[in-house]
Amino acid sequence: MEIQEQQAIRTTLQVPVRARWIIDIDHEEEIGEAIAFARSHNVPWLVLGEGSNVLFRGAGVLPVAILHLRMQTIRVLADGVQPLVQVAAGYRWHQFVEWTVAAGLWGIENLALIPGNVGAAPVQNIGAYGVELQDVLWSVRAYDTVAEQMVELTPEDCQFGYRNSVFKQHPDRWIITEITVQLSRSPKPQLQYPDLAALRERSSLTPREVMETIIRIRRRKLPDPQRLPNAGSFFKNPVLPRSRWEQLRQKFPSMPGYPLPSGQVKIPAAWLIETCGWKGRRIGNAGISPNHAAIVVNYGVASGDEIVSLVERIQDSVFRTFGILLEPEVRIL
Ligand SMILES: Cc1cc2nc3c(=O)[nH]c(=O)nc-3n(C[C@H](O)[C@H](O)[C@H](O)COP(=O)(O)OP(=O)(O)OC[C@H]3O[C@@H](n4cnc5c(N)ncnc54)[C@H](O)[C@@H]3O)c2cc1C
Repeated sequence: MEIQEQQAIRTTLQVPVRARWIIDIDHEEEIGEAIAFARSHNVPWLVLGEGSNVLFRGAGVLPVAILHLRMQTIRVLADGVQPLVQVAAGYRWHQFVEWTVAAGLWGIENLALIPGNVGAAPVQNIGAYGVELQDVLWSVRAYDTVAEQMVELTPEDCQFGYRNSVFKQHPDRWIITEITVQLSRSPKPQLQYPDLAALRERSSLTPREVMETIIRIRRRKLPDPQRLPNAGSFFKNPVLPRSRWEQLRQKFPSMPGYPLPSGQVKIPAAWLIETCGWKGRRIGNAGISPNHAAIVVNYGVASGDEIVSLVERIQDSVFRTFGILLEPEVRIL
């Protein structure tokens, strides 16, 4: 375990804040010690991966102990047609996707290029192009800061939903150290998304070919946080009862909606924001991407508070136009 004082907190929105303490953890046995350290200094702890789904308000040195998990192992627990693969929290998610594809395994190729670490993946049940982590998740290993011991959680314990889980509902209770996923050696392409239609014509396909297509699409559509700091889609796509969506469609006939198995309808947040005229707009150092209306970007040295004030203006304008409250996907701290 390594403890540093007053270091910059790295996030993909690149707001300039520092943490009172940053604690690097290399073994799960060190987690209890790190929590005890934070408690003894009367500061809250917060585990962070790459900071691609968080926004810090405030300025200067924040009274917090940031925990970084650096464990990076991968183990095949049970081989066969549907192998179980266990991967540590500190592994980069996209590198893990590449590892599975190199092993010829199907399951998470559609989740390529999502920034962040493996440990954060269950927190919002990451999803893209018709696949969510919950489709392959077998178990989660975590340190329970209430029971003060390591625990194993089943998918049912995780209470997954759309960009949601028990970890999002009870932030900072569990520190995830490993996940186990069940993948497949037999082809299981998930190509229902319109962007993937061309691949449906193919008589044979490998997980690598699907991954490479997803990478090309994402590179075209999403701003690279290294060049234009952002946290991906800032808002969740709102989910409405079908009757409410039909009512809105009478007033806004071009409003898109994707029916869900629950009978509800998912509306793209980007469409709502763009219709309210926000796409490409900039206020001071914060703005909305000119290419994707749900992506909030930091053009320079915007503070967290500046970004939050833009986010609130967008929420207000969408609410006044459609009566829909946009919920942030990003955790604001
Ligand atoms: C350009 C871009 C594109 C994106 N595209 C997608 C997408 O397609 N689909 C999608 O679902 N998301 C997407 N995201 C969001 C983000 O990549 C994911 O939410 C990712 O899982 C966050 O990982 P992280 O390591 O950066 O987490 P962080 O931002 O560091 O943390 C996020 C939350 O998880 C908690 N956390 C982190 N690690 C742990 C742990 N080990 N144990 C317990 N809690 C933990 C943190 O406390 C925090 O509450 C995108 C983001 C960007 C910038």
